[in-house]
Amino acid sequence: MRKETKCIQAGYTPKNGESRMIPIIQSTTFKYDSSEEMGKLFDLEAAGYFYTRLQNPTNDMVAAKIAALEGGTAALLTSSGQAASFFSVFNIAGAGDHIISSAAIYGGTFNLFNVTMRRMGIEFTFVNPDSTEEELHAAFKPNTKAVFGETISNPSLNVFNFELFAKVAHEHGVPLIVDNTFATPINCRPFEWGADIVIHSTTKYMDGHDCGVGGCIVDSGKFDWNAHADKYPGLTTPDESYHGITYTERFGLEGAYITKAVAQLMRDLGSIPAPMNAFLLNLGLETLHVRMPRHCANAQKVAEYLEQHEKVEWVNYPGLPGNKYYERAKKYMPDGTCGVISFGVKGGRKAAELFMSRLKVAMIATHVADAHTCVLHPASSTHRQLTDQELIDCGVSPDLVRFSVGIESVEDIIEDLEQALAAV
Ligand code: PLP
Repeated sequence: MRKETKCIQAGYTPKNGESRMIPIIQSTTFKYDSSEEMGKLFDLEAAGYFYTRLQNPTNDMVAAKIAALEGGTAALLTSSGQAASFFSVFNIAGAGDHIISSAAIYGGTFNLFNVTMRRMGIEFTFVNPDSTEEELHAAFKPNTKAVFGETISNPSLNVFNFELFAKVAHEHGVPLIVDNTFATPINCRPFEWGADIVIHSTTKYMDGHDCGVGGCIVDSGKFDWNAHADKYPGLTTPDESYHGITYTERFGLEGAYITKAVAQLMRDLGSIPAPMNAFLLNLGLETLHVRMPRHCANAQKVAEYLEQHEKVEWVNYPGLPGNKYYERAKKYMPDGTCGVISFGVKGGRKAAELFMSRLKVAMIATHVADAHTCVLHPASSTHRQLTDQELIDCGVSPDLVRFSVGIESVEDIIEDLEQALAAV
């Protein structure tokens, strides 16, 4: 199947007389005829469901669709993108381990790593996203367990140097985990460029309609945990908390990582989405291949319009030929990147605030990447406690406006920008 067909049909094939849409199995639990049968499920000797805190059939159908779109072997849905980022790392690292992450990642992920997971005893090194090979090698320690990056970073819009990060990670015997939220598998498939595990905030384009917070983790099945068994005992030696199962032995390289995440992390932390939310996510996925090209085409026109505007100081969009990441974006995402643009309004913080207050089509919202055009001024909202100098230090200039181009008429979006800029 091609990606367009996968968006519609992967993950669920109705049998004779069954519903064409995936069923919503809104049930906490599942009934069995004997305790022996249920025991086999607990021992992971038979496939099936027993409790929705760990697994649910509706969720699994949707996860299978995302796995098919990414070209992976197994996937699981999580209740948020944050849970997906956390699980993806915590599944293979614990207290005393070390992770290397690109510094150009979503602020919430940065905080999760730098504050919360540090408190759990995991050490993080944040590297320049444009590090050289030598600089990347220098960041490794004997206890490094994974490398993490974002396909297109939120909000700085850096395009990830997949091949270099993958090469260096693999030379050190660790997997590369990539957050593919902004590009989606319609525009970029990180496994084709060396990533081993992909995560998503499905809250963004995948849901696409501002309906449900969610996340997903996909395994490529390619990383050889057994070849680096000393680093990953959680996957390659018996799990005493789960009936002595050795995940790689029982489920192979294609299934070990996700099965462990379900059996241990979902069991203990329960960050699973409601089946109804998985159903809504599936509706979004069905049209993802139609929406993404439209987001990109609209964003390209908006970026070109802003670039020539006298009241606009600068524009950052990887689809603009002058952009630092233009060539890299063309290589990894030849069909387009995403609908998110950032730009600066001449006149700094005050001018940006005035401009924002005049917008009518674009809604002020702490969100990006859905059908409705939305806009955020970090200096007066998410980052309002910072001084102008502190903002500059963390890469968010006081004039920065993050503009997420939706799939409305691009003429309406540009006219809206025109009238709001006229007020500045
Ligand atoms: N990754 C990226 C790139 C994001 O933009 C976000 C949220 O904005 C997240 C992860 C976290 O996802 P969620 O808000 O679904 O927890």
